[in-house]
Order: sequence, then C-alpha cells, then structure tokens
Amino acid sequence: MGRIPYWNIQCGIIIDILAIPVFCLLSYGFYRYWMKIRVGKDRIPLGLRSAAMKIGPLYIRSFFTRGILGARIYDQLFTGITHGCLFWGMGLLFIGTILVILNIVFGLPIFEGRFNKWFMSFTLDTAGLMALIGVLGLLINRLSPSKRLSAIKLRKGFIPMEITIIGILVSGFFLEGLRIASTVYEPGAWIGNMAAVLVSAIPNGLVWHQVFWWAHGLAALAFVTWIPFSPLSHLFLAPLNTGLSVPISGPKMGVLDFSAFENDDATEEPRLGVSKLSDFSRKRLLDASACLWCGRCHEVCPAAQTNKALSPKAVMITMSEYLNQEKYEDTSLIDDISKDAIFNCTTCSACMEVCPVSINQPKAIMRLRQHLVMEQSDMPDIMSQALKSLEARQHPFFGAASGKKDWRKDIDVPIFEKGKTEHLLWIGCAAIYEERAQKIARAMVNILQKAGVSFGILEDARCTGDPAKQMGNEFLFQEIAKQNIGDFMALGVKKIITLCPHCFNSFTRHYAPLGGFYTVISHAVMIDSLIQSGKIQIRSQLQHQAKSIAYHDPCYLGRRNSTFDEPRHALSSVGNLVEMNRSRNLSFCCGAGGGNYWSEEEGERINQIRAKEALDTNAEQIATSCPFCLLMLTDGVKKFTEEQKVFDIAEIVNAAID
Ligand code: SF4
Ligand code: SF4
Repeated sequence: MGRIPYWNIQCGIIIDILAIPVFCLLSYGFYRYWMKIRVGKDRIPLGLRSAAMKIGPLYIRSFFTRGILGARIYDQLFTGITHGCLFWGMGLLFIGTILVILNIVFGLPIFEGRFNKWFMSFTLDTAGLMALIGVLGLLINRLSPSKRLSAIKLRKGFIPMEITIIGILVSGFFLEGLRIASTVYEPGAWIGNMAAVLVSAIPNGLVWHQVFWWAHGLAALAFVTWIPFSPLSHLFLAPLNTGLSVPISGPKMGVLDFSAFENDDATEEPRLGVSKLSDFSRKRLLDASACLWCGRCHEVCPAAQTNKALSPKAVMITMSEYLNQEKYEDTSLIDDISKDAIFNCTTCSACMEVCPVSINQPKAIMRLRQHLVMEQSDMPDIMSQALKSLEARQHPFFGAASGKKDWRKDIDVPIFEKGKTEHLLWIGCAAIYEERAQKIARAMVNILQKAGVSFGILEDARCTGDPAKQMGNEFLFQEIAKQNIGDFMALGVKKIITLCPHCFNSFTRHYAPLGGFYTVISHAVMIDSLIQSGKIQIRSQLQHQAKSIAYHDPCYLGRRNSTFDEPRHALSSVGNLVEMNRSRNLSFCCGAGGGNYWSEEEGERINQIRAKEALDTNAEQIATSCPFCLLMLTDGVKKFTEEQKVFDIAEIVNAAID
C-alpha cells in the first residue's frame, strides 16, 4: 500500500491553502527591496544593453554556476561543505514537497513502486539528513564566528533562522517515525524506520503525530514568510545579483558621459561620481542588499589586511544600513565610509574575485572617489600633485629626474612610421620616468629587435591617462585618451605592445568606448609567443644553471585580464618557476594600484608584506610583469635584504637570449 497524503490529519488542506498568503507575503517582502533599489539610477545606456545581449551566454553561465550553484562558496572547505549540504538537501526536500502537492491536486503517482522507495523515501530521508548536518555546521560557525565573519560587524539574524530550520527538519523525522510506527515498515525510508523504532514506545502516538504535523507545517510556512525580512533573503538576492553582474574580471568602470554639461536643456543637474545612495546605479544598491557580511573580501583586501581605514565589507555594510534606513539623500555616506578608506583602495579587485555573490566593491568605492576628486577637489596631497603633473606635463611622476628621451639615450629605438611599422611599442610613463623601470623598456626593445618584430615608439611619448582614471579624475583621463586616440588614428596604429598592465587595461577597456579599438598585446604575452615560435632563442647552457624564479602576478594583468599562463611559460623557459602562496587570481597586490603609488602609506606596508611572501619562497629571483609592481617590490624587498632580487620578465628573458 502506498503512502496516503494527510494520513491521520483532518483538514490538512488548510496548510496548502495557507501557502497562498505566504507566497503573497514573500513577494511583498522582495517588493520592498525593489522599492529601495529603484531609487538608484538606471545607468545602462542602450549601447551597453546590446553589448550585454552579445555576452548573454556568459551571463547565463555565471548565473547558474555562481548564482544558483554558489560555486565560490566552495572555495572555503568548511563553509562550502555545510552550505552544499544545506542547499542540496533543502533543494531536494523542496522538490519532494512540490511532488506531494502534485499528488494531492492531480493524483501524480509518487507514492508507488520504486519511485516511492528510492526518491520519496530514501533520497528525501538522506536529503533531510544532509540539510541537518549543513545547518548544524553553519550554526556552529555562527556561534563561534571566524575573524572574517566578525570583522567590522557580525550579521545578526542567521541564528534564529538556523534554529528554525533545525526544528523543521527534526520535527519532519519525528513525524515520519510516528507515522511508520503506527503503520508499516517503509522500504527505503532508512531514517524514518530508525526513528519509528525510537518513538514506538511513546504513548498516544497518533495524537503526537497530529500535533507535530501542524507544528511542522505552520513552522515551515512561517519560515518561508520570514525569508525576505531576514539575512536569508540572500537565497533570492544572491542569484539575482550574480545573474546581473558583468561576468568579466575586475570592475568595469566604463567612461563617464560629460555631454549633459553641454546640454542647456538638461532637466537634471549632471553629477560626477556619487555622494549619496540615490546617485548610485540600481545594480550597486542591489550589491549592498545582497551582501552577506561574510567578510571574504575583508580577508583578502590589501588595505584591510594592513589596518588601513578601508574594508570592502565595511563599505557594503554602510551602504546596506543606509538603504535599510532609507537614507537615500544623506550625503554623510562619504564621511561614514571615510575619505581615507575611499582613497586606500588599490583597485586590485581581490574582493570581487572572492565575493560569493559577485558584488562589485571597487566600483562603488571608485564612484565615491570620483565625486571627491571631480566635485570637491578633495584628495590626498601626493595624489593631487601627481594629477597636476599629469595635467601639466603629461605624466604623473612629479619631481622625476629623467627626461622624456633619457631611457633611450644610449640605444637606437625605431620611431613608429605610418604604413610601415606594424606594432606601436607603448612604453608608458613609469618606464620612461622611473630610472629602475627604464631597464624594462630597454630590455624589451632588445628582445623585439632580436626577434625581428616590426615595431616603433612614439617620438613624443606620454601617459595613457590611466593614473587619472584610477585616482578619480575622469575629465583628465578622457582628455588624454582622446588626444592619444587622435594621434593613433593619424599614424594608423592598429597593434600596440604594452609594457605596463595598467596601459594594457586602459587600451583594452577604456579606450574602446571613446572610439579607440586596437589589438593590444602585453609584453609578457609577446615575449612568450616569441619564445614559443623560436624567434628568440634561450641560451642552452641556462638549462644547467637555471635560477629559481618566483612570479608575482600583477593585479591588472592577472586577475583583471586573466593573463596567468604566458608569463609563467616564458619564465619556465629560462628558469625554475616557483609559485608564491598567493598566486594567479588570488595574488596579493603590491600596493601601487588605484593611484596609491602616489600616496603616503601609513602603518604596515603592503609592498613589504608581498615582498616577504616572495622571499619566503627562497627563490633566487622575483619576477613580475608590471613596472609599478617592479618598483613597489624592489622597495619592499629592501626591508629584508640588500640583494637585488626583483626583475621584470623582459629583463630576465633579455639576459638569457643569444
Ligand atoms: S561584499 Fe561579498 S565578500 Fe564582502 S562581505 Fe559582502 S558578500 Fe562577503
Ligand atoms: S579592490 Fe582591492 S583594495 Fe579595493 S577594496 Fe577591493 S580588495 Fe580592497
């Protein structure tokens, strides 16, 4: 005989009918989120909408892998296992509940034969146990929270929800045991059968069954109603936020549209950056709503880990508290987040990389920075001097001893010729004006000449404007970028080799919206392809005396532009590659990004932490592929050794070629 729905229960249909108001309350709860989020600006221009349609499959993949399946949760073992057990357990139980409703309404034969034994009994019993193990693990995690969970603030509200889930699951097993004890042994229901043995001695089992049936059903309904008003709202907000996040690494900053300043008929006063919640895009407000306060971002943020004012978790908490209190127009947001915090961000995007719900913390921080810089001219003095230098002299290295052409005074470097030269070798400001970094440019010129690559430099070298963008001055960035685009157009530049990942990122991501479309190759990738194609030969005796080399992934080349393997291939051709503890997409910033090369760093220094990690590998050389990383690590290493240990990939390969 199959199971009978509502066995031993009169008017059990009431529970099903109550599901209707519960669904309405659930929907109302999420509607309240929408009412808050819609205060933000719908900033997606039409052009980007069509671009978004083109990368639709990527969105769908990230929605399923990160949003629905929570792929990033599993990066941390304990949390991954507990979340996985709870998610998959509850998911199966939910499917079971739907099947029971279909059985009641349409008579779907689910309580018969092998399906009843293997799914409705065995699988759902196992799912209940998995969910119980998962929720107990999460409760333990909450009761003795790790550093990352308690950093800044511990989110309240999880514990009552977890206790309720435990109550619902345990009462479910109890109910099943009471039912089986009063009927017959149920094949497949391995936990229910064991529970039946335990409860068989309880007097008035049928009455207790009725009491627990109603308590279990009503608790489950109350729990569902509670979801949008509790931290469990992330069940819906996390997949939604992930599904709407741009599925590329790093904060896609776009370019600000200044046309409204020239439009006399504009009804709304144009704003530069963000000073209050209502200035943010709706997506940023959804980010703040979806934040779990899990602290994974805090744990990897170079600023937070060196006790600076910034914690990306704190930024999201402040935004979500403002949102909850409906302080949409309150400009004290910046003071509450703190100006120091806003300028501490190195834009390394480590926070984005680990966030389980795909929040874009650096973009929110950069919008606030843009407001301070462009609307209030309020920024740290050194950054301000760098920007002034960039404006007046086309490079941010104020006080630099080198002139524009000093880096090439002893070597012969071809100038780019229209129609003749294939690649523009873009040197970038660091390798032009910083003496140590000039060696990268000279090494790269030698490598390209030896490989017979058609290349040339600009006679009048300058900056891409990237430091201006990272420091929040979009006006200046666009001015410089447009001038470069105009010059490139006049010269017919189509292919660019960059020495600096910041230049690479700027050309690939920020020049295109301004009309500059180029094939951009980072020098690390170029060097690797020249080695692989045999255009440059590594001296054979090096194989016998190869040095060990630890490679530091620059944030803007690795995490932000997914270039991990090529520099490793190239270095493996000349030495024995050693990996640092934090590498590839989880690499730790050198501290220079976001314009922080031009900042007075207080307290513990980010570059020294990273230099120590590199030295801890005991590698003979430390390699990188960014002039800013080179400068920062060279400085950081000085705290521990006098030896010159840090080199750019171009220097290392150049020293090894015939
Ligand atoms: S922003 Fe992401 S990583 Fe940071 S606390 Fe919120 S959910 Fe966690
Ligand atoms: S981008 Fe880097 S520095 Fe900025 S908040 Fe994220 S982890 Fe911290």
